[in-house]
Amino acid sequence: MPSPEELDASFALKSIARNISLKSSLQRMPTVYSVLWSAAQRFVTGETRQEGIDTAKVLASLGYDICLAYVGENTATEQACQAALDEFVALSQAIETASLPKGTTISFDLSHLGLAVSQSLALDHFHHLAQETKGRGICLMVDMEESDKLEAILEVYQQVAARHQHVGITLSAHLYRTPQDLEALMHLPGKIRLVKGAYQEPEERAMKRGETLDERFLSLVEAAISTQHPLSIATHDQHLLQEIERRKLLAVAHVEVEMLYGVRPDLLKQMKQAGYQTLLFLPYGREWYLYLCHRLAEYPPNLYRALADCAQPSRTQQPSSDYF
Ligand code: FAD
Repeated sequence: MPSPEELDASFALKSIARNISLKSSLQRMPTVYSVLWSAAQRFVTGETRQEGIDTAKVLASLGYDICLAYVGENTATEQACQAALDEFVALSQAIETASLPKGTTISFDLSHLGLAVSQSLALDHFHHLAQETKGRGICLMVDMEESDKLEAILEVYQQVAARHQHVGITLSAHLYRTPQDLEALMHLPGKIRLVKGAYQEPEERAMKRGETLDERFLSLVEAAISTQHPLSIATHDQHLLQEIERRKLLAVAHVEVEMLYGVRPDLLKQMKQAGYQTLLFLPYGREWYLYLCHRLAEYPPNLYRALADCAQPSRTQQPSSDYF
């Protein structure tokens, strides 16, 4: 269990993560950006699409399935949302050109594509991306954002998923409403990615990390598997994965274990060697601020590593040799 000091640090980091003006200042301060980038590189494959693709090729050749993500969220103008859509389309072309395996996934926040401007813009852009990726054998995965956006995200997803089988959605186990959302979404064919939940939420909406959340996570896994619904179990929690394995819920068709780049590579490799389907989430791009805050918040010892990385940038050697 994290110490009280680590919990305070985690809470503070998640609050800092929500500060949009800090995020945009960072983009405008090259010196600060480059110092923090040294820490972010532990979790982000690079600033460019090509760096994401190059890392994907290496890791795919080792037998991991790949999920690429162009990071960003809360895009505020129509023009910037169009630029984000163009990047996702270019990414889907690059995946094809690089001959990454069929079934490679692209993950994205709907607020990166248009939801912060209007629901209809997000819908249009998501439809466009779904058309674009379908013929290429690429899957799409909608990330989950703060619960204030949940209703809008579900509405947009349901409209697109009713027409396209290759789109899936992330659900956060920590929200009290998730069992009902899971039940409703299992009527659609799209894969469900189950996570604990990264965002700081009001306590009437979400439970904290701990045994109750782990029990909830397990029961959601069981519910999805009981209907043979495609499921990505997205966690680095070794005890939870051991319990899922003990209940024989891993060696099941359409079930995979998914982890974030740079987090517990040893554990994902172990899962792959045990014969389970393993998927690796590879983010790239320049808008890694929120993403980095979350990675530090959910495991506060990462703060020490981040400090050392900032002081000595050449330390960060990625991909970690633990994947090989
Ligand atoms: P925790 O209980 O947080 O951690 C359990 C153990 O895992 C820790 O004790 C530690 O040993 C290890 N660990 C966890 N995180 C780290 C870390 N950063 N560095 C080192 N060790 C760590 N959240 C969303 O809100 N929306 C999303 O769309 C979303 N997509 C995700 C996609 C994938 C593929 C994954 C794996 C996670 C995603 N998350 C998302 C994040 C998720 O909600 C959790 O915040 C994150 O996975 C940490 O929770 P955990 O399940 O690993 O367990």
